[in-house]
Amino acid sequence: MDVRSMSAPELAEVIALNRSEPSDELRRLAAEARERYYGRKIYIRGLIEFTNICKNNCLYCGIRCGNSAVNRYRLTDGEILGCVDKGAELGFNTFVLQGGEDACFDDDKLCGIVYAIKEKYPECAVTLSVGERSYESYKALRSAGADRYLLRHETADKEHYSRLHPSEMSFENRIKCLYELKELGYQVGAGFMVGSPYQTEECLVKDLMFLKQLEPDMVGIGPFIPQSQTPFADKPAGAAGLTLTMLALVRLMLPYVLLPATTALGTISSDARIAAFEAGANVVMPNLSPPQHRADYALYNNKLCTGSEAAENLRELNEQAARAGYEIDMSRGDAAERKM
Ligand code: SAM
Repeated sequence: MDVRSMSAPELAEVIALNRSEPSDELRRLAAEARERYYGRKIYIRGLIEFTNICKNNCLYCGIRCGNSAVNRYRLTDGEILGCVDKGAELGFNTFVLQGGEDACFDDDKLCGIVYAIKEKYPECAVTLSVGERSYESYKALRSAGADRYLLRHETADKEHYSRLHPSEMSFENRIKCLYELKELGYQVGAGFMVGSPYQTEECLVKDLMFLKQLEPDMVGIGPFIPQSQTPFADKPAGAAGLTLTMLALVRLMLPYVLLPATTALGTISSDARIAAFEAGANVVMPNLSPPQHRADYALYNNKLCTGSEAAENLRELNEQAARAGYEIDMSRGDAAERKM
């Protein structure tokens, strides 16, 4: 099965055949591709959700500005650095700073935070995930020391994008941001939700085709999960099986890629993490945010932030991975060299 050379109709057929879950063959091929590039290593990133204040009103997202039921918080610079210190003590070497599009974190402030982290921990990797900004802003953050940037494209179908977002947000700008980030030398992460409202098989094919063209270093894929105070409160969640299929197909499309077993997948299915590794995933992002704020970063209902999702429980994660024959790797975990 040569996924990279498949046409759109061929990809659609593979997705249709593996809609309920990846076949044994698909799983085996994806696991083999992962092993060729990364062995059985699982890379760990410390996730710091530093603000749930957001100017955007994405229809699916629990921290959308229109949701007045959210208990809003914003960490101070000192609190963010405190999370990094705690992570460094636990052995983390990659920190992901994620948040809503909060105007308080302008370039000066965010650059200062990135700079301070890199000054104290020069060997670590800093990943930002703070949405759409200007080219100049991305450039300043890169100069301050940011190594990576996660910006899911959410869907590669323009019409679908417009049904998930308010009219002020544009598909073109999202894609433009991703190419600008690449041009600036970031290791870039794109990605999408599986089962988001109005998603068709054709949308998923476009996601795969878009990723093939963009060639990102990371791809975040998780199921859509409804959040009760959003316009999509009554929409059904995406399925774990189809999410595993999309993970496997992305692994085969971009064999060198870093592919997280996402919290959203863990939230809808208790044994999902190992199943995700078996389908080609090789990253986990335990939560390093201050425990008192974790529940307020409520992107969707019942978001997991306990057990092995919590950075404090690294031992549990280690044991879980080891039982399944995987090895947790606490290094920076850069993307493998591409040799396709
Ligand atoms: N503001 C930044 C951005 O736009 O990239 C980062 C934060 S945003 C909340 C992070 C990701 O959460 C989004 O890219 C989206 O895919 C995911 N997300 C939001 N709401 C979700 C939901 N209801 N179900 C699953 N994932 C969701």
